[in-house]
Amino acid sequence: LSLFDFQNYTRATSVQHAISLLEQDEKAVAISGGSDVLIRIREGKLSGCSLVSIHGLAELQGVSREPDGTVVIGPCTTFADMAAHPIVRESFPTLGYACDQAGCPQLRHVGTIGGNLCNGATSADSAPALLTLNAMLILQGPHGQRSVHVKDFYAGPGKVHLARSELLVQIRVARVDYQGYSGHAIKYAVRAAMDIATLSCAVHVKMDGQRIADARVAFGVAAPTPIRCPGAEKAVEGEIPTEGLLSRFGEMAAADTNPRSSWRASKEFRLQLIRELSSRALRTAIENGGGVIV
Ligand SMILES: Cc1cc2nc3c(=O)[nH]c(=O)nc-3n(C[C@H](O)[C@H](O)[C@H](O)COP(=O)(O)OP(=O)(O)OC[C@H]3O[C@@H](n4cnc5c(N)ncnc54)[C@H](O)[C@@H]3O)c2cc1C
Repeated sequence: LSLFDFQNYTRATSVQHAISLLEQDEKAVAISGGSDVLIRIREGKLSGCSLVSIHGLAELQGVSREPDGTVVIGPCTTFADMAAHPIVRESFPTLGYACDQAGCPQLRHVGTIGGNLCNGATSADSAPALLTLNAMLILQGPHGQRSVHVKDFYAGPGKVHLARSELLVQIRVARVDYQGYSGHAIKYAVRAAMDIATLSCAVHVKMDGQRIADARVAFGVAAPTPIRCPGAEKAVEGEIPTEGLLSRFGEMAAADTNPRSSWRASKEFRLQLIRELSSRALRTAIENGGGVIV
C-alpha cells in the first residue's frame, strides 16, 4: 500500500484541458496547491483517484484590476502572494491580512485562495473577508461559465456548489464593494501559528461622516459554513459608533449565529468570541478608515 494512493497525475495545459480531464474520468480530482487533497488521499478518503493539476496554469494565477475597477483574483494565487500583492494591499488589505493568518510560511506558499474556498471548510481563513467583500465566484464547466455569490457557494460542512467537472476560475470583487470601505479581520486560534481557527471574524465598514453608512460582518466556525450576520449589520447602519453600539453589534452577532461545541471550544465560549471579536473588529475597521468611536 502506498502512502499516496492515486492512479494518475496529469498536468493540465489549460483550463479547458483540465475541465475535459475532469469530465472524462469520474475519479478525477482537481489539485491546486495540494495541501488538502494530499492529506485526504493519505487518509484514504480519495483512494484510487486521478489527479488533474491546475497548479501551473498562468490564467488562474495573480491579481489584476479591470477598467471598471473590478479586482480579479486567480484562484491558484497562494496565500503568500495574496498577502503581498499591491492591488490587494491597496484595495482590500483585510483580505491580504486574513490570508497571512493561515498556517505557517511554508503552508502560505503552497495553499491557494481557490483551494481554501473549494474545500468548503467553515474555518477557511480567507472566507469571512471574501464574504464581507461580496466576492463573486466564476465557475467554468464543460458548458460554459456561471457566477455565484460566495455566500451561495457553500452547501454545508465541507461541501460547495461545484459540479464535478467545474473549476473555480475567478474570484471577483466589484469596486462598489471595496472603495470607501475599511476593514479588519481577527483569527482566534489556540496556538499563534499552524492552527485552524477556533473562531474568525472579518468586518468591512463604510462611513458617511460620523455615521456608519454600511457595515458587513462575517464569521468562520460560527456555523457549519462561513456566514454573514445581516441582523448585526442592520442594527448599526446609520448610527454613530459609540462604545454602546459596539457592544450591541456583538450581541446582535451572537443572536444571529448558532455555533456548536467541539473539542476546540464549547458553544458558550464561541458565543463569547463572536461578541468580542465582532465588536473589536468593527472598532478597528472604523479606526482603520480614520473614524472615531465617540
Ligand atoms: C499543515 C496545514 C495547516 C493548515 N492551516 C490552515 C489555516 O491555518 N487556515 C486555513 O484556512 N487552512 C489551513 N489549511 C488547509 C489548506 O491548506 C487551505 O485550505 C488551502 O487554502 C487549500 O489550498 P490548496 O491549493 O492547497 O488546495 P488543494 O488541496 O489543491 O484543493 C483543495 C480542494 O479544492 C479543490 N480545488 C482547488 N482549487 C480548485 C479550483 N480552482 N476549482 C475547483 N476546485 C478546486 C480541490 O479539488 C480540493 O477538493 C492547512 C492545511 C495544512 C496541511
